[in-house]
Amino acid sequence: MTNKYVIDSIPGDGIGVDVTDVAMRMVDAVAELHDFSIEWRIRDWNSDLYKKTGRMMPVDGIEQLATGDGIYLGAVGTPDVPDDITLWGLLIPLRRKFDQYINLRPMRLLPGVKGSMPGLESLDVVVVRENVEGEYSTIGGRFGTGTPEEFALQEAVFTRKGITRVAHYAAKIAASRNGKLVSATKSNGIIHSMPFWDEVVAETLAEYPAVEVEKVLIDALAARVVMKPTTLSTIVASNLFGDILSDLVAGVAGSIGIAPSANLNPERRFPSMFEPVHGSAPDIAGKGIANPIGALWAAAMMLEHLGETAGAQSLTKAFESALADGIATPDLGGTATTESFADAVRERLS
Ligand code: ATP
Ligand code: MG
Repeated sequence: MTNKYVIDSIPGDGIGVDVTDVAMRMVDAVAELHDFSIEWRIRDWNSDLYKKTGRMMPVDGIEQLATGDGIYLGAVGTPDVPDDITLWGLLIPLRRKFDQYINLRPMRLLPGVKGSMPGLESLDVVVVRENVEGEYSTIGGRFGTGTPEEFALQEAVFTRKGITRVAHYAAKIAASRNGKLVSATKSNGIIHSMPFWDEVVAETLAEYPAVEVEKVLIDALAARVVMKPTTLSTIVASNLFGDILSDLVAGVAGSIGIAPSANLNPERRFPSMFEPVHGSAPDIAGKGIANPIGALWAAAMMLEHLGETAGAQSLTKAFESALADGIATPDLGGTATTESFADAVRERLS
């Protein structure tokens, strides 16, 4: 019997639309080769919808997605809609309602790609980011507007449950790699939440004697990503630190356009969501030159999550082989368009 999956696809805005189009076609081609099928439910939940209705998604959007096997997202955002609307109107509610508490962001130096640091020969890092609590909080406010004492207060909320589960997940990833885990912290400057983070990570990791955990201050870690990225393998980080670190790692590996991201509900009680790390890139939207690798890699992570491991590998190998043959979009120094890169991937699927 052929496995069939229902995936909600939210192409979004700008280059999100271009790269999602490529990713869906390539996934369909992989599905045909590997004997499974995808029913795509395309959702026009984007900034245009917001401008028309004042909402990024329908009132019952969450209920609609809850019936599917996964969510595939391009990118949302346009210059004339504030970023906090797209973030808090779509992305953050999905992550939280579906308890996608792990944000998994792998990055490798891909074949034929020059990293942004001279002499970089290899890089293979997985950032495990806590995805539903921490610094991204609604608690706080603006006070004393119009007075000289005006201030803003922004709370961060870290729970034992939240830190424990991300630490468990990261420990398992580290164990499946080189057994080394770096925990990003700032317990010297942030004196309540970060010492708590350190303590709970250490307690959780005590259950994994085969995993060596090193706690590193986020400032030093940022420098290490740039100076000595080969000393890093698996990193566990809070919501904010993980967000920044994973873009940094992607930048060192060559382009934000190649980075994938999986928002996972590991227990599979709710659908997980897969997306490229990049945004809608208004500066290159409509030009047909967006790099679709981040989107394809995210699609491969989705196939892996669905259990279609062979299909996931086929897709990853195909874009790696296109790159190895010197085919690349302008952000990587090549001359390929989004479409011609997609054609090259299509030819290499097996
Ligand atoms: P958003 O507001 O949706 O987050 P942004 O303005 O932050 O969008 P990003 O998409 O995050 O822009 O990317 C920043 C820059 O990196 C873009 O302006 C673009 O030049 C480049 N870039 C991002 N993604 C890609 C891609 N897939 N291919 C090529 N270049 C890209
Ligand atoms: Mg952005």
